[in-house]
Amino acid sequence: MFDECYTPLDSTAEFRPKMRQLGELMERGVQMVYLTATLPPHAEPEFMNIMRIKADDVHMFRSPTSRPNIAYSVVEYEEDEFGRGDITAACRLVEQKLEEYAALAKIIIYSSSIVTTQEVSSALGCHAYYRDVGDVAVKDEIRKAWESADGRVVVATNAFGLGIDRPDVRVVVHIGPIYQMRNYSQESGRAGRDGKRSEAIVLMPVGRQEALQKAHEQARRRPVKFHISMTAKEKQRIEQQKVERFVSGAACRRVYLDREMDGRMDRVRCEDEEERCDMCQASDAMIDELEGQRQAYIQREQEKQDRLMDSAIGMPTSSIPFPEAESNGFHSSPEPIPGLSPPGSQKSTVSFDQGFMADGIS
Ligand SMILES: [Zn+2]
Repeated sequence: MFDECYTPLDSTAEFRPKMRQLGELMERGVQMVYLTATLPPHAEPEFMNIMRIKADDVHMFRSPTSRPNIAYSVVEYEEDEFGRGDITAACRLVEQKLEEYAALAKIIIYSSSIVTTQEVSSALGCHAYYRDVGDVAVKDEIRKAWESADGRVVVATNAFGLGIDRPDVRVVVHIGPIYQMRNYSQESGRAGRDGKRSEAIVLMPVGRQEALQKAHEQARRRPVKFHISMTAKEKQRIEQQKVERFVSGAACRRVYLDREMDGRMDRVRCEDEEERCDMCQASDAMIDELEGQRQAYIQREQEKQDRLMDSAIGMPTSSIPFPEAESNGFHSSPEPIPGLSPPGSQKSTVSFDQGFMADGIS
C-alpha cells in the first residue's frame, strides 16, 4: 500500500530520486493500492507513467478534493515601506485565531521560504520546521511540542506534512508565494480532518487580488499560443497562474480549487453543506444588503400610502365636494365644451349666465 502516492511526481534526480524507481514493483507483478488526496486528473497520465501502470489495469475511486468543512479565504494586510508587513499580519491573525478556537486546537503557518519561516516563528515564539532544522530526533521533538497543550502553533515549510494526521488543526495559514495548487491543496487539507469547521487562509498585501485580476483579464484577451511540448519554465508559469486565479478573488475560491484538483468545471460557488469561502460570503452579504434595501423601500412606500389613507379618512365631510353642492348653478369649474357634456350632467355643469337665462326663459 502506497500512501501519499503523489510524491513521486515531485521527485527529481536531486530530490527523493528513489521515488521514481517504485514503478519496478508493478513490473514484478506486485498488487498495489495507491492512496492520495492530491492527484489532479491531468496529472494521472504522468503518475501512471512513473508507476508503470496501464490505465486499463486500474480501478479508480475518486472523491472531491476540497473539504466541505474548510472555509477558504484571503486576508489582506498593509505593506510597510520595506514591502513587509506579513510578519505583523501573521502574528495578529494567529493571536485572533488562538482566541477564536479553544485549546488544544492547532494552527499551522506555511511558507515556501525558510527565512520567512524562521522570522515568523521567532516573532510568534513558536517552533519552526523545515528540512534542515535538525535530524529526525529534533524534528520529532518539534512535532511533539506542537501537539502538546502549550505548543499550538508551528511555522513550517512543506517539509512539515507527511505523517502529520492531527484531527484538530483548525487553521492553516499560507504566507508568501504559493507555487502549486497541488501543494496548496495538500497543505490546506491538513485543516479540519475531524470534520469540524476549519479555515484555510492566505495572507496577501492589500491590492494584490485586484492586480492579479487585471493581469489575468489582459492575458485572457491575448491570443493563445499552443505548444506541442512545454519547457519546465512554461509548466511552472502555468502552475503559478492557477494559484494566482485561486487567490485573485475573481470568483468563488472553490471554483479554481475544484477545477484544478478534480477537473470539475460546473461549479459556480460554495454549495449547501459547505463552509462558504470569503468570496461567497461577500456576495451573499451584498445580496442580503440589497434585499434589505428593497424591503425597507417597500415598507416606506406602504407607510406613505397608509398615511395618505389616514388623512383622507380624517378629513371633515364638509370639506369634501359632493355633486349636490353644485346643484345651485354656482360652479367654479371651467365651462363645458358644448356637446361634450354627458347626458344628465347638464344641470350640474351649467354656468351662472346660462342658468340665469334658463330661469328667465322659464
Ligand atoms: Zn465560495
